[in-house]
Amino acid sequence: MKALARTMMHNRRALADKAMKAAITARLKAGKDLVSPVCIYSIAEAHGVRVTFNDINMEGMYQRGSPPRIHLSSRRPLPRRAYNCAHELGHHLLGHGSSIDELRENQLVRPWDVPEEYSADTFAAYALVPTLGLRNAFATRGLKPETATPIEIYRIACQFGIGYSTLITHLLWGEGMISRARADALRKFTPRTLRAHILGSLTPNPLIVADEAWGGHAIDAEVGHLLLLPSGTVAHGDAIASIADLEGGRLFEAKRPGLVRIDRPGTEWAAFGRIARTAYVGRAEFRHLEDDADD
Ligand SMILES: [Zn+2]
Repeated sequence: MKALARTMMHNRRALADKAMKAAITARLKAGKDLVSPVCIYSIAEAHGVRVTFNDINMEGMYQRGSPPRIHLSSRRPLPRRAYNCAHELGHHLLGHGSSIDELRENQLVRPWDVPEEYSADTFAAYALVPTLGLRNAFATRGLKPETATPIEIYRIACQFGIGYSTLITHLLWGEGMISRARADALRKFTPRTLRAHILGSLTPNPLIVADEAWGGHAIDAEVGHLLLLPSGTVAHGDAIASIADLEGGRLFEAKRPGLVRIDRPGTEWAAFGRIARTAYVGRAEFRHLEDDADD
């Protein structure tokens, strides 16, 4: 039994190593560095993979062919969609066959017991959150993974466009930056309770926090999402509108699809927002197109 466990452990390490290298190559071939958060849909497109959002209740689907295709569920939360895209891209770049990933809660086998699923998840984590970028994200905020508060961890998850619990899993199993006990303690907080702590009230709307260490890359959101940006931030356009000034920053709500330039007068801080319509269905690259006037 011990020998079997050792073999599995060894195989896991070999699979993880291969998936991590594939993720690094995928970023570099798409012209990305190994530090910054990325738009995974544009990376997939750079690899010739067509990404579409569908109104189907699943995680995602990879279809070999020409062109290869990734189908994602528009019903899943935004960070989950990005992660699922990275996961399906992993299936593609690691040479796996066509496959459907059912909703995680419906899956009978634990996904990581299947080598392809473990590899695709590992690929996804490293493609979205490169090691150097993660270290930088903690360092520039003066934080350490073992002692950062759940809200600080949430802010870093927002920066890479992934879910809070996905980041905890990666800190524990991918990077070994936190202990098992620490991961368990962080998991006691749900995104919902963290939102309530950050905003001072309960809300069902997803919240993206882009703090002062954000770094200038795009803020991807959907109509109805809340964005907590640094105090004094101004939006140049009507895709987002400020709704409150809170202790932790200025709160905006995404109002309509489109692009919006955001900056903070008198400071270097700037970003732009890309707002998609709620549960958008269609090609990923067209998701921020503004509604036609006669819609
Ligand atoms: Zn899969």
